[in-house]
Amino acid sequence: MRGGFLTEEEKANRPKVTWPLLKRVFSYLLPYWKQMFLVLVAIGVSSVLGLWPSVLTGRIIDEGLIGRDLDKLILLIVLSLCVTLGSNLIGVGENYLNNWIAQHITFDMRNQMYRHLQKMSQRFFTSSNQGDVITRMTSDIGGVERVITSTFTSILSNSITLIAAVVIMFRQNWILALVGAAIVPLFVIPTRMAGKKRWALTKESQECNDEINGILNETLSVSGQLLVKLFCKEDYEYDKYKKVNNRMIRLNVKESMAGRWFWVVISTFSSVGPMLLYLVGGILMIKYDSNLTVGDVTVLVALLGRMYGPVNMLLNIQVEWIRSMALFTRIFEYFDMPVEIRNAPDAICPEHADGNVEFINVNFSYNEDRQILKNVNFRLNSGHSIAIVGPSGSGKSTIINLIPRLYDVSSGEVRFDGEDVRKLDLTFLRDNIGIVSQETYLFNGTIRENLLYAKPDATEEELIEACKKANIYDFIQKQELGFEAVVGNRGLKLSGGEKQRISIARVLLKDPALLIFDEATSSLDSISETKIQEAIDPIIESRTSILIAHRLSTILAADEILVVKDGEIVERGVHADLVKAGGTYTELYETQFRRALDAQQGNV
Ligand code: ATP
Repeated sequence: MRGGFLTEEEKANRPKVTWPLLKRVFSYLLPYWKQMFLVLVAIGVSSVLGLWPSVLTGRIIDEGLIGRDLDKLILLIVLSLCVTLGSNLIGVGENYLNNWIAQHITFDMRNQMYRHLQKMSQRFFTSSNQGDVITRMTSDIGGVERVITSTFTSILSNSITLIAAVVIMFRQNWILALVGAAIVPLFVIPTRMAGKKRWALTKESQECNDEINGILNETLSVSGQLLVKLFCKEDYEYDKYKKVNNRMIRLNVKESMAGRWFWVVISTFSSVGPMLLYLVGGILMIKYDSNLTVGDVTVLVALLGRMYGPVNMLLNIQVEWIRSMALFTRIFEYFDMPVEIRNAPDAICPEHADGNVEFINVNFSYNEDRQILKNVNFRLNSGHSIAIVGPSGSGKSTIINLIPRLYDVSSGEVRFDGEDVRKLDLTFLRDNIGIVSQETYLFNGTIRENLLYAKPDATEEELIEACKKANIYDFIQKQELGFEAVVGNRGLKLSGGEKQRISIARVLLKDPALLIFDEATSSLDSISETKIQEAIDPIIESRTSILIAHRLSTILAADEILVVKDGEIVERGVHADLVKAGGTYTELYETQFRRALDAQQGNV
């Protein structure tokens, strides 16, 4: 709810308007200073020109009508019309420029924000509310447009109009100008008082409305009305509803009456002003034989009328100003969020990657309160594969998140090709790692577009080869549109298995030195499982890979198995030895893998 007054929340969060904040706001205007200057001139000229017809009215009366000079009368009328037209035309130009500047500034800010958000870490996206991020991007930055097209220009044009009106009034006649200046507060104060009262009533009726909606939602919903019926609470609920409804009616009547009083006050005071000027002007002309003319008095009355609007607006501007500064403060808070994972200044970018990975005494926690990984050590040599197994929540996905630096270690070191990942160029690192994650993400587009995301210049042959390897080519061929088939929002038109095989094809096109496969825990049907299995088995054999495995066949394909429990590697080795060891792996084998295997064999 917007209005001429601040809400309690806005008052509590009133931003500190400091010099650095203002400087920062103006730094966005600076690239457009030439256009801003033109706007400034246009506002100045159109505000002053806007007052001129009022001044010309005096001459029309004195020289044209009272002086009975028809030629002059026509000339002055034409001049007055031309001035009004000129002022309006300048206003159009000013409006265009203003919008142009506002659009460009919001364009700059949106781009800057998007770029900044892209650099934010995984931690930011998992912990912040997605709605908040989108609000910053859309409504807050959109609000900047309003600030520039309305608040800034309103301050300027109203101040210029007010100053010009006061100067002209004092030049016409200082006594009448003083009377006029004394009347303005008489008009403005009641207007603001009425406005404040109305604002409070609107707020109250909004709350009342929310309450009514709450009652309706609760008691007229399927389960709500059932509860009311079963507890025989009809009368109780009806009374409650009637009471709030009654309050609402009283508030509505009060609100519309506040509007009435508001207009009575405004119209009375706006006619008191001119009458007072006529009276004082008349006394000066009749009693004191002043050289004041009828035209002069008319000009002063007209100018007084032109002062009410700007004074009122300038009083509201303070509220607009606070809101605008709060808006900028919120946006800047986002801009100032530190980029947690960034390229080292002297980042190394080797020519070629082999895909060796080494974890040395790695400890990690997402939040201060709980350590997730504890002293993890392992080494994966190029051309080999490792399977990571362990109960759900033991930290398997967390281990692989550290390799492409989705998070950085709390202590210890993750090495890629012998270098600490924090010293490597981020693009190099991520270019050489391909992850097929549990949650497959496909953009809403065609299968081809999704595949080309990994390699925009891939040839048709490369696409086909990758899809064949990922065991998805037959499916694509069966589609009426083939590669041009649309996958739907987030790939929802495809089954889980199809999505996963497309994402395997996508990673194969990327052709990374290290392949990470986070096997989905969600149970796919056995046919889908087999198809995925057939796809990944040969891939694993020929590539350096880490597999988070839930199926025995995947585990058996790996050169080494790491068993993770509560963030620690508790066992490692090959299947045959681990089964015999009688530890966590044996337990997992008995409860998980063997049962899955039996089920699969029984099904196929
Ligand atoms: P699963 O097999 O079910 O996928 P996992 O072994 O891969 O499990 P992780 O996803 O690594 O487990 O999670 C390890 C622990 O870290 C879990 O207890 C989880 O609740 C916690 N965790 C995971 N992601 C975050 C996060 N972004 N912020 C805070 N805690 C997290």
